[in-house]
Amino acid sequence: MNLPKILEAKERTSKRVAILYDDYNNEGLSNFGRGKKYLILTYGCQMNEHDSEYISGIMEDIGYQKTDDMDDANVIIVNTCAIRENAHNKAEGMLGRIKHLKETKSDIIVIFCGCMAQEEKLVNKVKDYKWIDIICGTHNYHKIPEYLMERLNSDRVCEVYSIEGNVIENIPVKRDSKYTAWVNIQYGCDKFCTYCIVPYTRGKQRSRKSEDIVLEVRELYNNGYQEVTLLGQNVNAYGKDFDNGYDFADLLGEVSQTGIPRIRFVTSHPWDFTDKMIEVISKCDNIMPYIHLPIQSGSDRILKLMGRKYTTEEYLEIVRKLREKIPNVSITTDIIVGFPGESNEDFEKTLDVVNKVKYDLAYTFIFSPREGTPASKMEDTTSLEEKKERLAKLNELINKYAFEANKKMENKVYNVLILGKSDKDNKYMGYTENMKLVNVSCSEEYVGKIIPVKITGVKTWSLDGEVNE
Ligand code: SAM
Ligand code: SF4
Repeated sequence: MNLPKILEAKERTSKRVAILYDDYNNEGLSNFGRGKKYLILTYGCQMNEHDSEYISGIMEDIGYQKTDDMDDANVIIVNTCAIRENAHNKAEGMLGRIKHLKETKSDIIVIFCGCMAQEEKLVNKVKDYKWIDIICGTHNYHKIPEYLMERLNSDRVCEVYSIEGNVIENIPVKRDSKYTAWVNIQYGCDKFCTYCIVPYTRGKQRSRKSEDIVLEVRELYNNGYQEVTLLGQNVNAYGKDFDNGYDFADLLGEVSQTGIPRIRFVTSHPWDFTDKMIEVISKCDNIMPYIHLPIQSGSDRILKLMGRKYTTEEYLEIVRKLREKIPNVSITTDIIVGFPGESNEDFEKTLDVVNKVKYDLAYTFIFSPREGTPASKMEDTTSLEEKKERLAKLNELINKYAFEANKKMENKVYNVLILGKSDKDNKYMGYTENMKLVNVSCSEEYVGKIIPVKITGVKTWSLDGEVNE
């Protein structure tokens, strides 16, 4: 049994990251799950969704088949998120449901993994829950086949490592889409923003080799994929852990050369945003004009307390350059309200920035104290009621600008990659280059294709359109 330890999770050394090409091993297990089914429940960000695609790949590699029906599953995998309290609560609620199910179906195997499994206090609690069979963390889910074997001879397997981490290549993957794909370019984070749990749950920042990334994108393109999203906690810090000067702008240029029609990337940190990146994005037609650039707060005082290492002035300068060099660029952000010590005046400064940038969209959150982070120990005198009021006020402003940005697109024609059936009427849904969701009146034959669409209707969160023939 290996349990997570927060003190070890925050350690950073100069130890070199190993790139491991044969650490995943299904030897002798390819029929292990034959005739059995697995169900995977995913909470949290794109990184977790993509991890779940790998976990699905692993389960199918050892013979299991996917099911969406909990009553039909032989293995239930809960891939958890630790970023905020409500993500915690959702996963804990699900564990309660699974506990009941296990009372009547005791042979189900339950795997608890992801970011919550990296939390010391939580794992010390759940490791004794009898209905959880396997606990593993973000560094070792590729070992699930071994743990399933081990479980045959033991009550419980709990293997969580609070390490800086390596890069594990060649894990089988089962992608959810045939047209768009996530591609990890980097893992972990060394920024240690004072509110954030990620550097503790996902280890140090480590970049994949550019050759491996480019090869993956090339293969996806050869297999009919139209779009890749390069993934990382700080994509634009890519390469900072190399010693050859190769950076994210260089990688973008190389990925663009593969010819894949659409390239996106999330998430960029303002601290690492360079002019060289803006130059490459503006020159390459297949790099999409969509930048997610979290600001978190519009108050320099709060940004400092958050450890974000940029000022609002510097942030606004990046936005100015993006708008100058990339026509049609849409800019989205993340904002936290109610950070400890945030005064009304600080909050008004956040509204000021929103009024200046006029975001296309923003993901807004109330500060959630995370065990072990510096911000969780800061004095917080603002009431939850006040925080909720700030959030509502912020969302109202964000929605106003989201609608205005969409309104500008009305009656114009945009290229849309159609991804599948929409849940609206009989329509199909897809995304414009600048990442606007469009519900299009068209037929099945357009799925997986990039087609010109005329925008006929505008809402706050989506657009309506028809094929422009
Ligand atoms: N790496 C990205 C960055 O630096 O912007 C963000 C990663 S995090 C998965 C997504 C968002 O969750 C953050 O941008 C932040 O707004 C929010 N977040 C992180 N920790 C939080 C906390 N303790 N309380 C509330 N929101 C939080
Ligand atoms: Fe968390 Fe900050 Fe790292 Fe983003 S940059 S993952 S917010 S610590």
